[in-house]
Amino acid sequence: MQLDAALALLAEWGEPSYRSAQVRQGVTRDLATSWDEVSTLSKSLRARLVEAVPFAELTMDDVQRSKDGTVKARFRTADDFPLETVLMRHGERRTVCVSSQSGCALACTFCATGAMGLGRNLTGGEIFEQLLWAAREARVDGARIGNVVLMGMGEPFHNYDEVLRFCRLANDAEGYGLAARSIAISTAGWVPGIDRLAAEPLQVKLAISLHGPDDEVRGALMPVNKRFDVAAVMAACRRYREATRRRIFIEYLLLDGVNDAPEHADRLARLLHETAPGGFHVNLIVYNPTAADYRASVPARIGTFRAILERRKIDHSLRQSRGRDIDAACGQLAVRGVRELRSRQRAAR
Ligand code: SF4
Repeated sequence: MQLDAALALLAEWGEPSYRSAQVRQGVTRDLATSWDEVSTLSKSLRARLVEAVPFAELTMDDVQRSKDGTVKARFRTADDFPLETVLMRHGERRTVCVSSQSGCALACTFCATGAMGLGRNLTGGEIFEQLLWAAREARVDGARIGNVVLMGMGEPFHNYDEVLRFCRLANDAEGYGLAARSIAISTAGWVPGIDRLAAEPLQVKLAISLHGPDDEVRGALMPVNKRFDVAAVMAACRRYREATRRRIFIEYLLLDGVNDAPEHADRLARLLHETAPGGFHVNLIVYNPTAADYRASVPARIGTFRAILERRKIDHSLRQSRGRDIDAACGQLAVRGVRELRSRQRAAR
């Protein structure tokens, strides 16, 4: 959905500014699914837009619905790259997890997306279209999307400009109007991106996937640690914090026998206190098994880990994985899509 391209065209065609407002409203508030559904526009203008700008750039090719209300959709870009989007329902709250890339180059060992490799960067419009899909789903329960997390497929800072373009589209007060603070960008610790974001006027949230308190543990899970080790990531967090005064979210996936021992919790607490006391919130995440060879931490170990963070006064929360009865871990559904695509291509040959 190239909303900004459509708005630029209206200006180029000399249309009055209220036409832009009608397009914004039709797309983001009425959640139209085609230019023809933007009924406030004249018939001839709709026809012109149909000719000039594709309304949808993504095609949905699979959707899975969990008993807990989580919905996961797999889309394809016009040039056939798969991506996935997850809508989560927590009581009244609706959160969408969007992808910034098809696949990912960073190859984290616990991640199904990492096993795919990188397909390509998504455009800001393709990321925005995922939000519009989720908004339509949420509307069915009379709800609005309250939060967007860029935590689906891809490393957002490998696609910095388009990710920021998406954030501006989502934040546009005359459009969907999502508060910047309701948008979280989650990075695997790509330091140049953290530094760039620190200088942005847009107050989006920053989340860092750490998953280990030292280079030994983190390095075994995340190859990116060779490029930016724990010290480099923490130094970037310190700079970000000094520049913005904003709290940083640390994502920590609890993996049985890998990073969930009491000494890991102790080291994590020390690391965060030394970097920026009071500057972090740790999201502990219960692992949703993929094909990779890891298991979720057992409740007793999670309890001990949390008790240590509590004692060390590290602000934290535990995120239960959603959609355990569907392929809801990052990349699982799209990986299945890639396999299906390859087998279709083999059959066609
Ligand atoms: S966890 Fe994120 S950064 Fe790592 S491979 Fe998966 S998508 Fe890429």
